[in-house]
Amino acid sequence: MSRLTALITGASRGIGKAIAMELASNGYNLLLNYNKSKEKAENLVEVIKQKYNVEVFSFKADISKQEEIDQLVKFTFSKFDTIDILVNNAAICIDKEFNDRSVEDFKMTFNLNLFGVFYLSKIIGNKMVSNKFGKIVNISSNNSINGFFPTTIDYDASKSALNILTKNLAIQFAPYVNVNAVAPGWIDTDMNKDLLTNDIKELESQRILKHRIGEPCDVANLVSFLVSEKSSYINGQIIVIDGGMF
Ligand code: NAP
Repeated sequence: MSRLTALITGASRGIGKAIAMELASNGYNLLLNYNKSKEKAENLVEVIKQKYNVEVFSFKADISKQEEIDQLVKFTFSKFDTIDILVNNAAICIDKEFNDRSVEDFKMTFNLNLFGVFYLSKIIGNKMVSNKFGKIVNISSNNSINGFFPTTIDYDASKSALNILTKNLAIQFAPYVNVNAVAPGWIDTDMNKDLLTNDIKELESQRILKHRIGEPCDVANLVSFLVSEKSSYINGQIIVIDGGMF
């Protein structure tokens, strides 16, 4: 059987990079999207090429802009016949006091974290339906379910909306495409670098049943399962991965 192809948004750093490494190790061909971190994305392509026998390309596209998503899709289909797996990972989290927040902040967050996911998933999901096969995994957050902060109100709202989008996409693309979301808790990446000081890490670790902050590979392992044959009966679900936080 020919190799399956995965498109991962925001794959230059953090969780997206870990997902790219994990899927490459499982033999998937890859299209790695990035926005600002060109060098990091290109280095990752080289590392993957040297370590794994897969085809891998990177492409710059701002996922909050429809015309750049169109370019990403065009480039991807110039390299691969199908996209079998889509991981909607790219997101921003603007950290600001509640009273400093504006509608513009909300729009910026939603343009990427929700509208970009909708637009890309609509294009790719319909192609997957024509192909009668596909897996879409959206990277949500446990902030969408049980961890709300007025300082990230727009992010939390965007991820709650992403959960509902996930379920609707699962209905729309049934029965051929599995659409699920994973909702991580604290994961040690750049997204939290200002927030997760050593003191806060210590404090938060005590709240977590596993007594540690998550690593990007924890999420990558779950995504790897969700895109595999072994999870073919899981559909329309939001799976929390936070080490146990209540
Ligand atoms: P991160 O370290 O900040 O990385 C974000 C990634 O998204 C980067 O690769 C970045 O690419 C990309 N990105 C940002 N804006 C983009 C845009 N406009 N277009 C395309 N790509 C863009 O974040 P992370 O922690 O890995 O987060 C990955 C996912 O996990 C996100 O959906 C996040 O909401 C979710 N999550 C994270 C945590 C956590 O604790 N870290 C918890 C729950 C959920 P460039 O650098 O190339 O711009």
